[in-house]
Amino acid sequence: MTIPMVDLKRQYRTLKTEIDAAVSDVLEQTQFILGPNVSLFEQEVAAYHQLPYAIGVANGTDALLLALRACGIKSGDEVITSPFTFIATAEVIAQLGATPVFADICPNTFNLDPSLLAEKITSRTKAIIPVHLFGHPADMDPIMKIAAKNDLRVIEDCAQAFGAKYKTQLVGTIGDMGCFSFFPSKNLGGYGDGGMVITKSESVAGHIKMLRNHGSSQRYHHSEVGYNSRLDEIQAAILRVKLKYIDQFNAARRKNAAAYCAAINQQNVILPSVAEGCEHVFHQFTIRSPRREAIAHALTEKNIASAVYYPVPLHQQEVFMKLYNSSIKLPLSEACAREVLSLPMFPELDGDEIQLIADVINHTF
Ligand SMILES: *Cc1c(COP(=O)(O)O)cnc(C)c1O
Repeated sequence: MTIPMVDLKRQYRTLKTEIDAAVSDVLEQTQFILGPNVSLFEQEVAAYHQLPYAIGVANGTDALLLALRACGIKSGDEVITSPFTFIATAEVIAQLGATPVFADICPNTFNLDPSLLAEKITSRTKAIIPVHLFGHPADMDPIMKIAAKNDLRVIEDCAQAFGAKYKTQLVGTIGDMGCFSFFPSKNLGGYGDGGMVITKSESVAGHIKMLRNHGSSQRYHHSEVGYNSRLDEIQAAILRVKLKYIDQFNAARRKNAAAYCAAINQQNVILPSVAEGCEHVFHQFTIRSPRREAIAHALTEKNIASAVYYPVPLHQQEVFMKLYNSSIKLPLSEACAREVLSLPMFPELDGDEIQLIADVINHTF
C-alpha cells in the first residue's frame, strides 16, 4: 500500500459526475473570463462567511498582494507577519517595496504569538498578516486589540484554513480582509490556481475588483496600475461544487486527526494541539519530534509519504537575508523548522491507513 500526502483522485471519483457537468457547462457557455460561475462563487463564498463581499483572483498570493495594495502598503512601510509560513505571505510585502517584520510563533499552534507583537511595532508599521497555519486559527482577539491600538490593518492569510473558526467567527471575517488560496492541495482546492479576498468594506472590495482587472472599473478606462489577476471561470465552476461539501470535508479531516491522536502513542512525538475556542480544519496534521528524520525514514520504507512544512523559517531564507541584511533570531520558529513533520491528511484517508501510519511511528524508536 502506498499512502500519499494528499490523494486528489479519491475526491474526484466521488464528485466526478457533478464536476464533469460543471466543467462541460462552462465549455458550452464559453464565457471564460469573469463569467457567471465566478460571480456566483463570489456570492456563495460571501454568504458562507456572512460578509457582503468576496472577490475572486488568480491565486492566493495575488489575494494577499491585492489586499496589501488595497491597504495602501507601499515602499518604506513595515508589515508584521509570521516567519513560519509559506514564502508567499512575506513575498508580497517585499514585492511592494515594504519590509516584512517577523515576530516569533507559539510552538503549540505554529501561529504568531500576540505577546511578541508590540515590540515589533515602529512608526513605519502599517499592517499585520496573521497566518492560520495548517488550518489552526491564529489568536485573533489580542492581535485585533494591538492593531486597533496602533491603527494597523489586519489581513488574514486563510490559505490553509477555509472554514476554520476562532471562537464563533470564521477565519477571514475577523480582520479587515481574509485571503484564500484554492491551490489544488488546499482544504478547498480547485483543479488549477485560484484565490479570493473577502471583506466587509465596500470601498476595499471595489478597489480589489479594479486592481484584479488592470486598474479598470469601466472597460478601457484605467485609473491606476493594476494586474491581470482574475479567478478562472472553469476553476470557479469546480469550486462551486466543492464548496457544497467543505464542512463535510473539514469534519472528516477533524475525525482523521482525532484517529491519529488516539493511535499515535510515542513519547518522542508531540501531537498537534487545538487552542481553546478554536475549530481546526487540519489542512495539515503536523507532529513535532527531535527524531523526525527517523520517523520520515521509517515511513518512506513503507511507501508512506510525509513532508516538512517548513524546513527554513522566512527570516533565514536567502532572499530575505540578502534583502534586509538581517540576522535576527526567532528561536521558536527555528525549533519548529527542525522538528515538524506533516503526515498524510485528506478527508478520504481511511482508518486502516491511519492505524498503519501510527504503527510505523510507534515502532520507530
Ligand atoms: C498556499 C499558500 C499561499 C499562496 O497561495 P497560492 O494560491 O499558491 O498563490 C499563501 N499563504 C499560505 C500560508 C499558503 O499556504
